[in-house]
Amino acid sequence: MRVLSTSAFASTTYSIMSGANRYDTMAKLTADMASPYSDVAILATGTNFPDALAASSFAGSLAASKGGSVPVVITDSKSLSSQARTVLINRLKVKKVYLVGGTAALSSTVETQLKSAGIQTSRIAGSARSQTANMLAKAMPVQSNTNTAIIVTGTTYPDALSIAPYAYATRSPIFLTERNTLTPETQATIKSQGLTNAIIVGGTSAVPASVESQLRNSGVTFISRWWGQNRYQTSSVIADNSVKAGVLSYSGSYIATGRNFPDALSAGAVAGSARVPLLLADNTATSALDDHLLSNTNVGSIDRIVFAGGDSAVPPALRQHVTNAISQGGFVYHTPTGQKYHKTSECASLKQSTTKLSCTQQQAQRQGLTACKLCYH
Ligand SMILES: [Zn+2]
Repeated sequence: MRVLSTSAFASTTYSIMSGANRYDTMAKLTADMASPYSDVAILATGTNFPDALAASSFAGSLAASKGGSVPVVITDSKSLSSQARTVLINRLKVKKVYLVGGTAALSSTVETQLKSAGIQTSRIAGSARSQTANMLAKAMPVQSNTNTAIIVTGTTYPDALSIAPYAYATRSPIFLTERNTLTPETQATIKSQGLTNAIIVGGTSAVPASVESQLRNSGVTFISRWWGQNRYQTSSVIADNSVKAGVLSYSGSYIATGRNFPDALSAGAVAGSARVPLLLADNTATSALDDHLLSNTNVGSIDRIVFAGGDSAVPPALRQHVTNAISQGGFVYHTPTGQKYHKTSECASLKQSTTKLSCTQQQAQRQGLTACKLCYH
């Protein structure tokens, strides 16, 4: 871990957790989990996303049942990666490892390697990725504290990655669609688990409206959809909703690239154990990050930012953008001719205007703009 700097504003600390590859990054991130650790861990493949993603809920449930943090460790499929070995055997000295996924995802060699190190193993695997998720839901020792099923597409990762901290913290099982539909087995699992609420992650192109009917037929009475116009907006909406629900807080955030899944996959349960969001970032600054995490409303409470991944994933210029935004009071809004700056682009006195510009609070003050009384009272 490299601590970059400490800004004067809110004493925010910034860390970069990255390694030469996805497994090195995983090793650094899992070391950052809130201590103490439990004596169990979860192992999933690092070459695909569904198993490790669905496992974040199971990890949170194990953590609630046993006390201590439970990491989701990723490994190469064919044999136990040296980094996974170091984390599980040398560092955490776990007694039991739950292998998530079939032998195509985690070979029997991986299982043998753990057993020969004296570690007890238990494999949770279904005939398909959605079925593995169902089995994880049924195997949870402590059920969802919000009685909620989380529904994500099992086909692509961008919308789903950011839900992991919420899933870990609330122990809400993640269910996967197969070919845009919930399988009969998944519907039966949701029904048998008595889940009455559902959060659908992503827009209707990711999880079609027909899934909502399937959920109602499975006993779900309250459905909300957490989504935005793109993967970055969706990620910010998930973070905001998780904070509004009181599950996570903007006392910190993990930031990982949204262009690939391994770094975010490793960071999900870690962020969940710290009860902070995982934000997906593009190569350059996005309005999703500026308007939410980096808003003037939120930056004052941020103690810690962790950049998950190296320069190619979260480029130095983007890290600098985040650091500057926080040290300059976060983003505020104004009009080309207005004399006031606003905490939120939703401010009633700003809404009448068609053009909304944003800049940091410090920049607004330097331009001679003063705080809107409606926003700051
Ligand atoms: Zn205002």
